[in-house]
Amino acid sequence: MDINKHWNLARSPLGGWPTDGDFVLNQSAVPEPQMGQALVKTIYLSLDPYQWGRRRNGVETVGEVCHGRTVSQVLKSRIPSYREGDIIFNTSGWQEWGLVGEGISEFNYMHPRVIDPALAPISTALGVLGMLGLTAYAGLYVQCQPRPGDTVVVSAASGGVGQNVVQIAKLKGCRVVGIVGSDEKCDYVRQVLGADDCINRKAEHFEALLAEACPEGVDIYFENVGGAVFEAVLPLLNSSSRISLCGLISQYGHDDAASNHARWQQTGADVFSQRSVKIHSLFVGNFVKDYQDQFLREMSAWLESGLIGFREDIWQGLEKAPEAFSAMLKGDNFGKTMVQVGADPTVN
Ligand code: NDP
Repeated sequence: MDINKHWNLARSPLGGWPTDGDFVLNQSAVPEPQMGQALVKTIYLSLDPYQWGRRRNGVETVGEVCHGRTVSQVLKSRIPSYREGDIIFNTSGWQEWGLVGEGISEFNYMHPRVIDPALAPISTALGVLGMLGLTAYAGLYVQCQPRPGDTVVVSAASGGVGQNVVQIAKLKGCRVVGIVGSDEKCDYVRQVLGADDCINRKAEHFEALLAEACPEGVDIYFENVGGAVFEAVLPLLNSSSRISLCGLISQYGHDDAASNHARWQQTGADVFSQRSVKIHSLFVGNFVKDYQDQFLREMSAWLESGLIGFREDIWQGLEKAPEAFSAMLKGDNFGKTMVQVGADPTVN
């Protein structure tokens, strides 16, 4: 019997950030595909902040295989849409083997699709050519409509979403200032991604350094983190500036979400309204139908011509998933976080 290893949610998270007892590594028989299904083997598993939200909010129930998007290879197919050997994007979760096709629940808006390995490394379907790239494209390009010369501030600028935002903003002729959690990340954001400046959020006098880096104020703020970083950007917002409210990762391990909302309401009264700041709440799922094709076309062309690059933080082995997940939530990642679960047949 072939064995499938998988991580299951071991308990309802106690609050705060993930800890060792939240996950348990189990094994069971590799499933047999029924008519209308295909058996797939996981190559890459995506680790994303929203997965913690699902676990904390009870969307993922105790005992379930942990949810996660994957790049997989079709090993046995009983469905015409997939051929054996195809590389696909799907949502197998934190496990070595999975099924796609009839009767297999899909992640609501990211449907399985066959990936063209000639386009780019297949791992990019989880990052720059996947949901994270589309998130950056939708929040910056579609919602905030950058104009040449705008000052764009991006938090978590070296991360999965942030690195795309920085580079798209530069392509649109903006002045870009990144915010990150280490000097090493700052160097990367400036030297590799091409930002005009980058500030370490842990630096002494962070607020003053950020103000210095934005002498003409901020026209667009791409919000990935919330908390103290948001508070530092707030006074710098120009009249008629735009915010894409993509994520508030600094708050995901807190139980005082109410106080964070209260802060947003208060600032809404004294800054947002007086300066006509436009706040766009961002949910990438709302952009798939209308923008996915356009995004894939443009982003693939940018990648091919070298105008956009990407950095991935790839951990080796399914066993590492909980550790890699915690590291990413704490900011110890550098680029898009994923785990390589099986051999990548497209790499020699
Ligand atoms: P990243 O790769 O950017 O990793 C998370 C980063 O958040 C860390 O590297 C760290 O960057 C930063 N961070 C962690 N803790 C804190 C903290 N306490 N204070 C400030 N920064 C912190 O993750 P993703 O690119 O996957 O996601 C980025 C954001 O986008 C998240 O908030 C996520 O929820 C959101 N998102 C939203 C979507 C939507 O539809 N709205 C879709 C996808 C993602 P550093 O240390 O460099 O500051």
